[in-house]
Amino acid sequence: MSPSEPSIDVAANLTGVKSAMADARKQAGLDASRPTVVAVAKKHGLARIRAGLAAGHRCFGENRVEEAAEKWPALKGEYPELELHMVGQLQSRKAEDAVALFDVIQSLDRPKLARRLAKAMAERGRRPRLFIQVDTGDEPQKGGVSLDDLPALLALARDELALPVDGLMVLPPAGDDPALHFALLAKLARRHGLAKLSMGMSGDYAVAAAMGADYVRIGEAVFGPRPAE
Ligand SMILES: *Cc1c(COP(=O)(O)O)cnc(C)c1O
Repeated sequence: MSPSEPSIDVAANLTGVKSAMADARKQAGLDASRPTVVAVAKKHGLARIRAGLAAGHRCFGENRVEEAAEKWPALKGEYPELELHMVGQLQSRKAEDAVALFDVIQSLDRPKLARRLAKAMAERGRRPRLFIQVDTGDEPQKGGVSLDDLPALLALARDELALPVDGLMVLPPAGDDPALHFALLAKLARRHGLAKLSMGMSGDYAVAAAMGADYVRIGEAVFGPRPAE
């Protein structure tokens, strides 16, 4: 951490995020218990991660396999109940490392990756839960399966390969009203009999919580601004 970096109170941020979500859910007539915060620690060092752990938080996210492999194996030894989520685009050749490292992989978006994950799970005897990332905003560069290709990917991953597909994930286009994308994701999950929704980030987690998110993926609102590269 550089001396000029502003001090960030990770514990207070986590409390604030959770109470904002509870308020939003109460206003929507829902119970306050969900969603789970995936604290996205990408680009942050161990000091801020440890502050989250000290506050009792146990669910974290990363967006790069290499970075996660440097930061998390030792922490997972210390905190066996820790749950680590992969939220970034995943190259097929890194499927095996991802299966070894993560407890949940949120970015399944194509048949080749589904097949690689199935092979890696069989070899490793480890079955991270999966979310299919859906490209509801027609932005293929961000990853995510198109709406047209979702049914076939689901048939392959869940039915043919018997992968543990728990739900759907979305990353709405900047500038769009996220609520439209969250509503579409919820509709797709219902249509396909999937239980869980991963939606909402620092700017829109309260909206996502009120719309039934099971996981929100929150970086800056928990850990502060990411260091520049
Ligand atoms: C970085 C990242 C997040 C968290 O973003 P913030 O705006 O910092 O909350 C969520 N989801 C994905 C896929 C990410 O890469």
